[in-house]
Amino acid sequence: MSNIQENYSLKNYNTFGIAAKAKYFAIFDSILSLKEILKTNLHQQEKFFILGSGSNILLTQDYNGLILHNKIEGICILEDNDNDILVEVGAGVVWHNFVMWSVSQELSGIENLALIPGTVGASPVQNIGAYGLEVKDTIHKVTALEIATQKIKIFNNKDCKFAYRNSTFKEELKNQFIITKVEFRLSKTPLNKTTYGAIEQELKNNNTEANPKSIAEAVINIRSRKLPDPKVLGNSGSFFKNPIIETNQFEELKKEFPEMVGYTISESKTKVAAGWLIDNAGLKGYQKADAGVHKNQALVLVNYGNASGAEILNLAKEIEEKIKEKYGISIEPEVNIL
Ligand SMILES: Cc1cc2nc3c(=O)[nH]c(=O)nc-3n(C[C@H](O)[C@H](O)[C@H](O)COP(=O)(O)OP(=O)(O)OC[C@H]3O[C@@H](n4cnc5c(N)ncnc54)[C@H](O)[C@@H]3O)c2cc1C
Repeated sequence: MSNIQENYSLKNYNTFGIAAKAKYFAIFDSILSLKEILKTNLHQQEKFFILGSGSNILLTQDYNGLILHNKIEGICILEDNDNDILVEVGAGVVWHNFVMWSVSQELSGIENLALIPGTVGASPVQNIGAYGLEVKDTIHKVTALEIATQKIKIFNNKDCKFAYRNSTFKEELKNQFIITKVEFRLSKTPLNKTTYGAIEQELKNNNTEANPKSIAEAVINIRSRKLPDPKVLGNSGSFFKNPIIETNQFEELKKEFPEMVGYTISESKTKVAAGWLIDNAGLKGYQKADAGVHKNQALVLVNYGNASGAEILNLAKEIEEKIKEKYGISIEPEVNIL
């Protein structure tokens, strides 16, 4: 078990900065080294968890099992056509670095997803999204190792069952496959999706035309102003998903709360802004010991220093209860609770 560390601190492996430890911790940087780890059969004796950068997890206690930390690198162009390119990216590549690579090649499709923390391998798991784009729209294929059989399986876009902050890897196949690489199709024609959020305004302020590079820069600026940097203040981005409710219920609620923010997503369903619900319930800036709701972003829970994961989880539960009580709406975490 030479490359498997014991009693390993995870403090630098979760963006909440929770000081929890893993019983076993192993890094792999290739399918070969992953198979070496699996050969020990430790994953059959202990529970295990696949870890990217830990930017979407909350460690509520020490992890009494094996953490498999993915560091598979590499960006390789597979096809280059008149209209687009097909590029294969190692699952351990830092997502933002891949976005910056795409922008530097004057390619389009993921520029609105700049500065989302995490690895490329985690991007399909919850179908990351921001500023009007979701990663599902550029993913061509996902390659993953099935843990039970140690065979490689290819998932095409449909197989991934992408949905809002969700995929088959977060649902029925959770913890069964380790994603090793992802293929993306990136366009040579700029998408220029600028209508969402403050992108247009930011481009105007910077006196720049829309193109993948300027949009990525605008998104970086907006996000840096809006969201707390995990290196400074521990957090996992949006802690809760925006709840999807019946439009009838939304209309009823609007009578009582005319300012309530919602987006129609189908004939009968409306997605409600969870941040608005929390803010309007007076919980923005709410703090209990070192666990708190960010003072500017109600959807972001933060660790003001020495909060334990359990304290953050308790705060999350308290928020869920208050939201249910006030609006009759159930909100649930987007973050993976361990
Ligand atoms: C400040 C901040 C802002 C954020 N903003 C956004 C945003 O705008 N939009 C958004 O969608 N998300 C956002 N997030 C959440 C987070 O960035 C994403 O969920 C990201 O994809 C997580 O990547 P990770 O490598 O850190 O995954 P981890 O947190 O390590 O893991 C997340 C999940 O993916 C699984 N997983 C990871 N790697 C693999 C793999 N190779 N194979 C199989 N399963 C794997 C894990 O087991 C776990 O279930 C934000 C987070 C922070 C801290």
